[in-house]
Amino acid sequence: MYELNEEQKMLQQTVRQLAKDKVEPRAMDIDASGEYPWDMFELLRDNDLLALCFPEELDGAGADLLTVCIAIEELAKVCTNTSLILGVCKLGSQPIMLAASDEQLKKYIPPLARGEKQCAFGLTEPGAGSDAAAMSSRAVKKDGVYIINGGKCFITNGGIADIYSVFAKTDDSAGVKGISAFIVEKDFPGFGIGKIEHKMGIRGSQTCELVFDDMEVPEENLLGKEGDGFKIAMQTLDRTRPSIGAQAVGIAAGALEYAAAYMKERVQFGGPIARLQGLQFMLADMAIQVEAARHLVYHSAHMIETVGREASAVSAMAKCFAADTAMKVTVDAVQILGGYGYMVEYPLERMMRDAKITQIYEGTNQVQRVVIARHLLA
Ligand SMILES: Cc1cc2nc3c(=O)[nH]c(=O)nc-3n(C[C@H](O)[C@H](O)[C@H](O)COP(=O)(O)OP(=O)(O)OC[C@H]3O[C@@H](n4cnc5c(N)ncnc54)[C@H](O)[C@@H]3O)c2cc1C
Repeated sequence: MYELNEEQKMLQQTVRQLAKDKVEPRAMDIDASGEYPWDMFELLRDNDLLALCFPEELDGAGADLLTVCIAIEELAKVCTNTSLILGVCKLGSQPIMLAASDEQLKKYIPPLARGEKQCAFGLTEPGAGSDAAAMSSRAVKKDGVYIINGGKCFITNGGIADIYSVFAKTDDSAGVKGISAFIVEKDFPGFGIGKIEHKMGIRGSQTCELVFDDMEVPEENLLGKEGDGFKIAMQTLDRTRPSIGAQAVGIAAGALEYAAAYMKERVQFGGPIARLQGLQFMLADMAIQVEAARHLVYHSAHMIETVGREASAVSAMAKCFAADTAMKVTVDAVQILGGYGYMVEYPLERMMRDAKITQIYEGTNQVQRVVIARHLLA
């Protein structure tokens, strides 16, 4: 079982303060403008938070996954968009951390750890969402270069990132073993950015299509061996789902805190609504769910670090339970504020919209249940 150590507790306090002072005041504007918050990226970089995702020998801070989760949770309490900057840093770089050669690691990781470059993860395609293996992007090797045709959709950080972990088929006849992973730089010939999406929530995170038109990827940018791609993608998601769980816990905890403070201030029928037992019970139920989700997320982060793939069902449970908690708790928090909860001047309707994505990306919550059931019935 995990227990937060002194370093983790200190980081939690530091990020909590940073989030209150610098991130919370920006959260509403980021959502309203729908523009990528470069200032928040710089804030995370300047406070060495991006470095948390990487080992010390590659210019990182050498933190474990639980520490990354704690930072994501604290940021998500006030601004999901900002927490996602750290989340996608983890997601986009994880395939490289898992499968790269020493040369690839030395070339690509230090600039990410120092916040000089950004990364993204390109798996989903229009015809291949939950069924990622149905992808139609194709990579053909010719004269030391892979020529990739096809594209990706819904890619977080698309157009913002410099480096992309991209998946494409190198062998049509080999099923999931015919998928390979590549490190793609945004300046490679044939790489393009397509449609930028307008979204319900996480509006400050850029989500877009990637277009591969005879894209030329040097053979030294293959990750692992040909055919390793699907395994790399699944192992990546096992390791990043706890961080989406942490994001969901953060959103839920932020909404709970706001609703509790509001109950003490809002006066109806001659006193604060906090004295109404009907609302007290709602608040208590919200708190029970947040606390349970937090423990499952921390536990899954610890297990992934210690037992690896065997923990993939727990990782799926954490993401699924925390995301469902974020959705339920934010809906209830809006209810506690009554009409004010529905207004954009208050943060709760934004938190409710942001919570929804945690049930969808990095595998929908239905897919998490498929993973869990498969594990139970194996
Ligand atoms: C804002 C945003 C950001 C994203 N960022 C990224 C990113 O950075 N990189 C990336 O690669 N992808 C990204 N995605 C894609 C995301 O992971 C997919 O949207 C998700 O996996 C679902 O795929 P789909 O949208 O095609 O839905 P579908 O797979 O078409 O699913 C439709 C419905 O069917 C259900 N379903 C599917 N299969 C099953 C099953 N076996 N059993 C029960 N129900 C099932 C789903 O749960 C869903 O309710 C992002 C998506 C969004 C919306």
